[in-house]
Amino acid sequence: MGTRKKVHTFVRVKPTDDFAHEMIKYGDDNKSIDIHLKKDTRRGVVNNQQTDWSFKLDGVLHNASQDLVYETVAKDVVAQALDGYNGTIMCYGQTGAGKTYTMTGTTENYKHRGILPRALQQVFRMIEERPTHAITVRVSYLEIYNESLFDLLSTLPYVGPSVTPMTIVENPQGVFIKGLSVHLTSQEEDAFSLLFEGETNRIIASHTMNKNSSRSHCIFTIYVEAHSRTLSDEKYITSKINLVDLAGSERLGKSGSEGRVLKEATYINKSLSFLEQAIIALGDQKREHIPFRQCKLTHALKDSLGGNCNMVLLTNIYGEAAQLEETRMVKNLEKELALLKQELAIHDSLANRTLVNYDPMDEIQIAEINSQVRRYLEGTLDEIDIINLRQIQEVFNQFRVVLSQQEQEVESALRRKYTLIDKNDFAAISAVQKAGLVDVDGHLVGEPDGQGFGLGVTPFSAKPGKKSKSKKTFKEQLSSSARKEGASSPVSGKELDVSTSKTQLTPSSKEGDVKDMTIRERETSSIEPLPSDSPKEELRPPRPSTPPPKPVAFEDFKNERGSEINRIFKENKSILNERRKRASETTQRINAIKREMDVTKEALNFQKSLREKQGEYENKGLMIIDEEEFLLILKLKDLKKQYRTEYQDLRDLRAEIQYCQHLVDQCRHRLLTEFDIWYNESFFIPEDLQVALKPGGSIRPGMVPVSRIMSLGEDAQDKFSQLQQVLLPEGPDSVAFYNAKVKTEQKHNYLKTMMGLQQAHRK
Ligand code: ADP
Ligand code: MG
Repeated sequence: MGTRKKVHTFVRVKPTDDFAHEMIKYGDDNKSIDIHLKKDTRRGVVNNQQTDWSFKLDGVLHNASQDLVYETVAKDVVAQALDGYNGTIMCYGQTGAGKTYTMTGTTENYKHRGILPRALQQVFRMIEERPTHAITVRVSYLEIYNESLFDLLSTLPYVGPSVTPMTIVENPQGVFIKGLSVHLTSQEEDAFSLLFEGETNRIIASHTMNKNSSRSHCIFTIYVEAHSRTLSDEKYITSKINLVDLAGSERLGKSGSEGRVLKEATYINKSLSFLEQAIIALGDQKREHIPFRQCKLTHALKDSLGGNCNMVLLTNIYGEAAQLEETRMVKNLEKELALLKQELAIHDSLANRTLVNYDPMDEIQIAEINSQVRRYLEGTLDEIDIINLRQIQEVFNQFRVVLSQQEQEVESALRRKYTLIDKNDFAAISAVQKAGLVDVDGHLVGEPDGQGFGLGVTPFSAKPGKKSKSKKTFKEQLSSSARKEGASSPVSGKELDVSTSKTQLTPSSKEGDVKDMTIRERETSSIEPLPSDSPKEELRPPRPSTPPPKPVAFEDFKNERGSEINRIFKENKSILNERRKRASETTQRINAIKREMDVTKEALNFQKSLREKQGEYENKGLMIIDEEEFLLILKLKDLKKQYRTEYQDLRDLRAEIQYCQHLVDQCRHRLLTEFDIWYNESFFIPEDLQVALKPGGSIRPGMVPVSRIMSLGEDAQDKFSQLQQVLLPEGPDSVAFYNAKVKTEQKHNYLKTMMGLQQAHRK
């Protein structure tokens, strides 16, 4: 395999005010890092816990700017790509440690842009500097989630959704992904557009497809193809640069997680350890076989990891003690240990039989256990201490006692209010049906579907006492509102929860009617959140019968829900304007220098012609010029230098302006989309449909193309587009850009919205 390039490794420490000096130490040359964890004495005397680690690296990036990170980590890799070397830069680390910040950077601030946009800039700079070569640049953006491949640029209008799933294919030229869209970009700006498109898709996908973006690997690839314009026989140079934002490396505990999370954890843990295996194998010069094909990640990167490739692994770590210790895991272990100790104590006592108490428990002891069980069920006691086996058995006994008592209480409470009929007593049921009190399915007449009072209540197995984490059930809302309003209903929510489904309820004829009316009223009104139970609700004035004109509403929106995005939008715009101003000043300076250069050139020419007329002096082949001409030459040289510097500045400024322009466009798009949503929510969507949009509803606020829920009339749509152009004129280009983006987003959200509506409907 020839000589392999070394894998370069760096650590970037996330800045913190609370840096763990006593735990993290860097070597003097900044090329090693030592991590020291304090020995946890609470874990007992016999303690094999490892407390010290030492890593050799190519560099530690502490409080490093994005600029410095790029210089250190990426610049050479990108530079060598134009000479034909494939390169891969990967960010590895726990979620939140700064991988995406390092790779993509923040989109709010040009200065904080990450490796991706900088790499694109460098590639296009280098192309400008090599006019003798014809160089083409293509990009693609791949996401790997649960071993499935997703094209983050498939949303572009000319790509279209792929029919067959993507596959990784190997041919003599290398590895490529069949079905992944690859985009030719002739200038920096196009490349930025693609990057933004992909980033937006990453965010949208996490909402519409319920993917957690930190649980997937994202690979942005820049493909470079170059050949000499002058030498016809020179071969083509092809190379690619993979910029990889890996999934969060935290080990998700398998015991606690289930379903989706467990699946994600399994795939991430597997793919990261396969990556590790591949990298270790690459580092071993004697190894012939490198296991690339074990997972999609290493397979897709196969031709960019090994051999003659530049490879950089940047590990993002937190600088805080709390994060280093993985506190959660330690706590779990501690708890487990405590339980084990208790178990051992029981064994011990069984063995020497000194503590074992075989006497039956007396009444006081039993009453105490009964009280413990009740407090445990209420949630006021966290744990019941285990003392011995007999006590454990008594705890179980008392559980049974308390439970059957509660059952009886509930039943009698219900009987006081309702007539109970056995579900299998068809004669009785049909009599009640005839009287019109229940419908055929046994629901109370006039109730919304499936909310039959007393039917379909929380099953017996539901853990009583402890409040479930999910949002309040309808029954809980009902009972808590009843309690708050001081209603005298003897049926508390808790009691309802434990009612069995053996019986079904109809209102008793005596007092039921009045109360049931109020309950039914509440039930219908409970579709809207109960005032005291919905702290998150925005305080919105009642709806006007006719919606306000959009320009007026837009001003309100900017002060309300849109204030934050409007602030960012304004900030970006002012940065953009400031850069534009500087660019125009620089241009003026360049023009002035150019004029002066022209004047100087003319003067020089004049001097030269004068010299020629007077006859040239020559001394041993050296031309002799007078001082005036000499000074002019010096001046021209100096001007040229100034010109070049200013020109370089202007080029940088222009790139920055382009970037800022994209940010401004993106913000404007967000602002208008959110306004669209807000306006429709506030004035058009029927309030019952908004349930799905509420916090905890099936659709996340801010991600819904409300125009899809209640599509406005064509006229209104047209007027709105016009309004957008009038309100925020930034040139026709940005409007086209904005329109394209809105369409993309609407397409993404359409499916999600329909699903949400179906769910709301089913409820
Ligand atoms: P990851 O992608 O590893 O989950 P992020 O890159 O999203 O983590 O970082 C989490 C948060 O910390 C973000 O808000 C990000 O802006 C911030 N952050 C990360 N690294 C830095 C840094 N070096 N300087 C400033 N902010 C940072
Ligand atoms: Mg991330």
